[in-house]
Amino acid sequence: MKTVNIIGAGASGLFAAYELHKLLDDKLEINVFEQGHSIYDRRCPILEGKTRNCINCKPCAIMSGFGGAGAFSDGKYNITTEYGGWLTDYIDDKDALGLMEYVDKVILELSEEELEEVYEPKSGYKKEALKHDLHLLEGRVRHLGTEKNLRILKSMYEYLKSSGVKFHFRTRIKNVNAYEDSRHRFEIESDEDIFKSDYLIIAVGRSGAEWFARQCRENLALRLINNQVDVGVRVEVPAQVLEDITGEIYEAKIKYRTKAYGDIVRTFCMNPNGYVVTENTDGIITVNGHSFSDKSLGSENTNFALLVSSRFTEPFDDPYAYGKRIASFSNLLGGGVLVQRFGDLTGGRRTNHHRLAQSFTRPTLEATPGDLSLVLPKRQLDDIIEMIFQLDKMFPGMANEDTLLYGVEVKFYSSRLELSEELETDIEGMYAIGDGSGTTRSLSQASASGVHVARVISLKE
Ligand SMILES: Cc1cc2nc3c(=O)[nH]c(=O)nc-3n(C[C@H](O)[C@H](O)[C@H](O)COP(=O)(O)OP(=O)(O)OC[C@H]3O[C@@H](n4cnc5c(N)ncnc54)[C@H](O)[C@@H]3O)c2cc1C
Repeated sequence: MKTVNIIGAGASGLFAAYELHKLLDDKLEINVFEQGHSIYDRRCPILEGKTRNCINCKPCAIMSGFGGAGAFSDGKYNITTEYGGWLTDYIDDKDALGLMEYVDKVILELSEEELEEVYEPKSGYKKEALKHDLHLLEGRVRHLGTEKNLRILKSMYEYLKSSGVKFHFRTRIKNVNAYEDSRHRFEIESDEDIFKSDYLIIAVGRSGAEWFARQCRENLALRLINNQVDVGVRVEVPAQVLEDITGEIYEAKIKYRTKAYGDIVRTFCMNPNGYVVTENTDGIITVNGHSFSDKSLGSENTNFALLVSSRFTEPFDDPYAYGKRIASFSNLLGGGVLVQRFGDLTGGRRTNHHRLAQSFTRPTLEATPGDLSLVLPKRQLDDIIEMIFQLDKMFPGMANEDTLLYGVEVKFYSSRLELSEELETDIEGMYAIGDGSGTTRSLSQASASGVHVARVISLKE
């Protein structure tokens, strides 16, 4: 029997395993290797209220384990090709959308409860945004919320386990080797063992991206294409500022080209009545956000990211390191995430405990009051300030003194591999999917990439 080994049990790896089992049933042995814990054993001391600050668990239970980085997320499945990744660079637009709709169908099947929260695009907002030179991206959004998302992941785990998919938790893969002339073409090594396979799917997400890039450069002689890094802040405002739009379309994905530099700034990951949270990427503490579908668990604020994309040209080829270095300044100054009132930032003042205590907007994350102008490069900071004033024209209240900015939020997309339309690398039988391959940056697109590769392998078989 042939074997497929999948590294990573996030959205992309799980949907690859799911679809492979559906299509090839018992014709294929499917193994999933995951450095984190099973869905029942993922525990973050911050979420459990045991500590306020990140204590650098290894591996981080937020980013690793069954369900990957999406497990404790808000579970927003954006069914669109307008944002959430670059799958359409490889797959026809209609097919990519079809894959995401299929993922949505599977989620509905796996859920034992009603999933009624779907937000459809509303064109009136697009027109309104255009009046202010703001560009609203549109998509259908299925919002699961953190609790339902976790319950669906548990169903997925039970289904895959009972279907014969073998999970190897707490198994970090250290090395990948490919051979042309052996019965099994691939060998992956953990601390304890070596595992062989006929096909290899790399689905390591953002947390495994740096490791994977090193494997490509040093071990596999695979070429990496330079990619971008997005650096910015998480903005928190009273929920009323955005409630008209979040009530109708849940999330406003808006792009704006700044007048000062011509850079694109975008809003990302909006969480109505949500909470600002920390995230740990390879020991660097950054900021993120989430919200619950159960309204009674909501906060009085809405948060979202404001990100500035930076693309680099030769000779620099390590955007990942650039993003980490910026985030590390906030860790150095604040011991983690910094928070600053917008009025203090534009007024050239540090936010201190006293000023924060006076803020009408109450922070949902206990971060260190500080000065983001000592952390973010001038260009990104100017871009963010300009965008907030622009957003204020559409959403009055956005540029208030007490709008809170948390830094730093960084979206690492890692380097992108050269891949075929099948998402196959230059090594036959080896595929790269999801966020770790640099082709996606969302649950929907990552899951869709897993389904796509499973279908490619099933056609070969
Ligand atoms: C707090 C938070 C909230 C989010 N909210 C949303 C949202 O609402 N909607 C949305 O679309 N997206 C959201 N995202 C992004 C989304 O989670 C990712 O786009 C998605 O999880 C990518 O799936 P993936 O399979 O590519 O990678 P991941 O989910 O990151 O999974 C990769 C897995 O591989 C494992 N791994 C890595 N290296 C190795 C190795 N060497 N050996 C073994 N295992 C390894 C990791 O432990 C991880 O479990 C959120 C992310 C975070 C962190």
